[in-house]
Amino acid sequence: MRSNKSGLYETYQFLYEQKWPNGFRCPRCEHHQAYTIQSTARTLPLYQCKLCRHQTTLTAGTIMEGSRTSLTKWRTVIELVSTKNSVNAVQLATIIRVTYKTAWSILHKIRRSISKLDKSRRVTGLVTNSVAFYARPPFVYFPTDREYPVWVCCAQEQEVRRDSSLERNEGLYVKIKLLTKRDLSDQKLSSSGEMRIFEENLEQQALPATLNRGEFRRDPLLYPLFMQAKHWLNSTFRGISGKYQQAYWDEFCFRLNFEHFAVPLSTLLTSLCMGCPTIAVTSEATQTVRVISA
Ligand SMILES: [Zn+2]
Repeated sequence: MRSNKSGLYETYQFLYEQKWPNGFRCPRCEHHQAYTIQSTARTLPLYQCKLCRHQTTLTAGTIMEGSRTSLTKWRTVIELVSTKNSVNAVQLATIIRVTYKTAWSILHKIRRSISKLDKSRRVTGLVTNSVAFYARPPFVYFPTDREYPVWVCCAQEQEVRRDSSLERNEGLYVKIKLLTKRDLSDQKLSSSGEMRIFEENLEQQALPATLNRGEFRRDPLLYPLFMQAKHWLNSTFRGISGKYQQAYWDEFCFRLNFEHFAVPLSTLLTSLCMGCPTIAVTSEATQTVRVISA
């Protein structure tokens, strides 16, 4: 972990570049020049707009604002979340030496940024989709956990070969969304459920191809994808239930969708956490998905 003074400076520099990729921009008047007020090395530099005198910091308006956890620790978390298996709050608490509660809260704030991005992203092209069911692995204290219905979709937004032997599938975007009882009828999407889920996740010109349970299990892309997501949830977190589950599905899909993006995953995630993605994440040219066959 970077904890020394030069590491801290480097982190400030890195975050500055994510927040203001084209140089300082006053959040109040958009002026591009500021005085830097640095009191001590331990505190965040303050930027005062040369025109309107508004003062701002690197973390103002971001998920890190007001946090007592250092920015170097935040950066470590972002890097960990960008790795293949990510990290759970128990592991994180040990790694960055914070309480479990703090670790959980940081991870959750990061997931919220990811969910926000996914919410703003409707998919197009051929959208293979199906209803699937998720349950936590059985444990002594909840031996028979309920099943959660989810909607799994894989959008083929560009011309690609849809082939299970391909380890890397270019031009695909995946989503997994929690369904409610009202979205279902006889374990399938009800007409109102379909309307809701399509409206929230698909562009108007998208071509949805909805698979039944049997077709879903034989699908070379969708089924392995769901199994992989389920395995991650159960092995890293011993399963997730309730209202926070959606954020975990979003986190899983985020890594898959942007793994081969033009910039490293951790840089993209940093700019998301800074509340100002510098990259047009909907740029279709560079989007790729990696799906590992079951
Ligand atoms: Zn200003």
